[in-house]
Amino acid sequence: MSDIRKLRNYINGEWIESTTSEYEVVVNPATKEPICQVPLSTFDDINKAADVAHIAFQEWKEVAVPRRARILYRFHQLLIEAKDELAKLITIENGKALSESYGEVQRGIENVEFAASAPTLMMGDNLSSIATDVEASVYKYPIGVVGGITPFNFPMMVPFWMFPMAIATGNTVVIKPSEKAPMLMEKVVSLLEEAGLPKGVFNVVFGAHDVVNGLLQHKDIKAISFVGSQPVGEYVYTEGSKNLKRVQSLTGAKNHTIVLNDANLDDSLPAIIGAAFGSAGERCMAAAVVTVEEGIYDEFMERLTKEARNIKMGNGLDDGVFLGPVIREENLKRTISYIESGVESGAKLVCDGREDMDESGYFVRPTIFEGVTTDMKIWQDEIFAPVLSVMKIKDLKEGIEIANKSQFANGGCLFTNNASAVRYFRENMDAGMLGINLGVPAPMAMFPFSGWKSSFYGTLPANGKAGVDFYTRNKVVTARLSRNDI
Ligand code: NAD
Repeated sequence: MSDIRKLRNYINGEWIESTTSEYEVVVNPATKEPICQVPLSTFDDINKAADVAHIAFQEWKEVAVPRRARILYRFHQLLIEAKDELAKLITIENGKALSESYGEVQRGIENVEFAASAPTLMMGDNLSSIATDVEASVYKYPIGVVGGITPFNFPMMVPFWMFPMAIATGNTVVIKPSEKAPMLMEKVVSLLEEAGLPKGVFNVVFGAHDVVNGLLQHKDIKAISFVGSQPVGEYVYTEGSKNLKRVQSLTGAKNHTIVLNDANLDDSLPAIIGAAFGSAGERCMAAAVVTVEEGIYDEFMERLTKEARNIKMGNGLDDGVFLGPVIREENLKRTISYIESGVESGAKLVCDGREDMDESGYFVRPTIFEGVTTDMKIWQDEIFAPVLSVMKIKDLKEGIEIANKSQFANGGCLFTNNASAVRYFRENMDAGMLGINLGVPAPMAMFPFSGWKSSFYGTLPANGKAGVDFYTRNKVVTARLSRNDI
């Protein structure tokens, strides 16, 4: 393995070899071929990056906001020109279909567009008269060095929820990409350099636990943005808060989709198939459970299983492939153990992902269970794979009651043409992001991205105005300016 390229950390505008001797091999999950080695960087590496970012912050915070935004405009154009390369990189290291990767690149670009509005977004408020000759104003300032910890499933989109806004608002950044999909960040760095970002403003330290703990402990890291699984997110939130950092922690999910009798199946089914099996179910907004009203249930199941069996699985770079592999062998084994658990607990396996296994990569076919109940592990846990549970319900109320029993509350969808049902769903569904007649209600950059319950820890979620507030702090100036002095 020693001849496989080793990634280097990016600190203070330079690619620097990690001080570690431990490397993990990054493989293409569709072929199992090694593509690079990622360093499991040390506390020394992360401390160096944080120190450098702290020094860079002293100058970067003084750069006028429109000038910071102009660098993002240049970065934006470079990203558009590099779309093909970025999408291909995502598919190679993550495995998702190329069309999904293009979608992810687009989502990342939209975050840069939003962040480039920093001159408007950072405007404060004022009131010219709060008492006789007294006025008050709010000014927004960056908070310092911010850390970003990201998952494997969106190697581009998730870091882009973090650093464009953090930089635009005047902070400096240390990102720790997922060790399972780290390569994209190299390309991003080269584009940021080309756009003219000063040294030290954006730093990348590759690795795993030690880098995360280093970020959580460093005194100059003022805020941490985490996106990943629930147990790790809870740990990051707890530890970061204990160390007096501002933390936003976006975590796991078990999203429920409700299909009512009046839903148009021609439109609903492709959306649900896309939400359940797209990106191999490795999406925090994936449809994991579908509850279907009795009157439409049989037709829904017949058409769902037929379409699921027709899904083309394979290397995401190949034409027409819809379903790529899961990320690693351990994820494949975990998925298979969930399929076994579903069968053992009495659910009916309608489509079995283990059939006709393709062992050239970590592939599992679309899997569908029916007769699922809320005491089953396949209903309770986030499986994060193309495994869908279907349940029959007598009405919308029952569908919402089932969904609200989950510990997670990231997204939720409803398929119907009934406006009253839409309102009832909106008012009663416990989830931070709702979709009506669409499968993946991931909000655009100008709206907040955040779940409820165990799907989110913190106060200010990513993106939207909340994202601006997360990366800024306010100063309120109250001034007595007497008119009698003139
Ligand atoms: P993960 O929690 O395993 O890893 C996320 C990050 O945490 C990685 O950078 C990883 O190196 C680090 N990490 C992992 N274990 C750690 C530990 N014990 N101590 C310290 N750091 C650790 O998540 P993943 O498998 O990369 O991503 C999938 C998860 O991310 C799913 O649960 C998914 O729902 C979630 N996710 C959530 C959102 C959201 O917006 N809520 C978005 C995308 C992904």
